[in-house]
Amino acid sequence: MQNHSPVVKQLKLETVSPGSISRYWVHIVSSGMAQPILVPVMVARGKEDGPVLGLTAAVHGNELNGLPVIQKVFHLLRVEELRGTLVGVPVVNVPGFLINQRYFNDGADLNRLMPGKANGNISEVYAYRIINKIVRQFEYLIDLHTASFGRINSYYIRADMHDPVTARMARLQNAEIIVNNEGADGTLRSAAADLGIHAITVEAGDPHKFQKGMIRSAITGIANVMSDLDMIDEPIIEPEEPSIFCRHSYWLYTNAGGVLEVFPHITDFVKKDQRIALVRNIYGDVVREYFAPEDGIVVGKSVNPVNQTGSRILHLGIVK
Ligand SMILES: [Zn+2]
Repeated sequence: MQNHSPVVKQLKLETVSPGSISRYWVHIVSSGMAQPILVPVMVARGKEDGPVLGLTAAVHGNELNGLPVIQKVFHLLRVEELRGTLVGVPVVNVPGFLINQRYFNDGADLNRLMPGKANGNISEVYAYRIINKIVRQFEYLIDLHTASFGRINSYYIRADMHDPVTARMARLQNAEIIVNNEGADGTLRSAAADLGIHAITVEAGDPHKFQKGMIRSAITGIANVMSDLDMIDEPIIEPEEPSIFCRHSYWLYTNAGGVLEVFPHITDFVKKDQRIALVRNIYGDVVREYFAPEDGIVVGKSVNPVNQTGSRILHLGIVK
């Protein structure tokens, strides 16, 4: 059925009939065999005018929880009651998705070079066209990610918490943790913010898999934002536990190679000087121990024991 969806050069929201859902393949670039590389897009346009909310997933091609999130939000939506327009892009990085990898097919990280360049290299021109053919039309954006290979994440939000609109969107996600992050880092979120789009990043679980709990949580967060923007009439679901707010966060790295073990669990609070990890040589002798530099909460952590010098240990969120 999807293959009968029209191929378009440019997403045009105004061509979707009010009160209907349309599916498109947006032609972004062409491959080395002159075949189009097509990005799937779903558009639900309400009968009444209202905000344009975009949902994007798999900017990193192996971060998959966002894909069923977007599919299910569209399946659950009653478009005849919708106000405004919902746009879903279940896979942004199509070449990466097809080869099960985070990066674009030239090896670049698409989420470090947004908004790309009109006459840039392979990944830059793809990024530029994603922004200009699709994203530019959004007023609000929720960009769905997961942890990277070899790491696990809490369910957490990255948002500029000094901006009242994005702060509100972040709180509505009912996440375990919210990390204040102003962007300006080549991410889709910061490129969208530069266009005046209110954008947050949702980090929902782990790569290369579908996780039911994470998927359900992200759907609730999106529905909450849609209710808050008066796009739908559903009640806002309150969190069971309030989100832990982190002023900022950073990764800790090893300075010795070897076999890494990280002790605290995701969302554990750690105290300054608490032992958080150790590295053994290949014979099992402990060669290095690591301690928390200050009090914080574990936002994410490495679960990959193979640690070359400079590998990540854990992502520490600073609450105070
Ligand atoms: Zn990601």
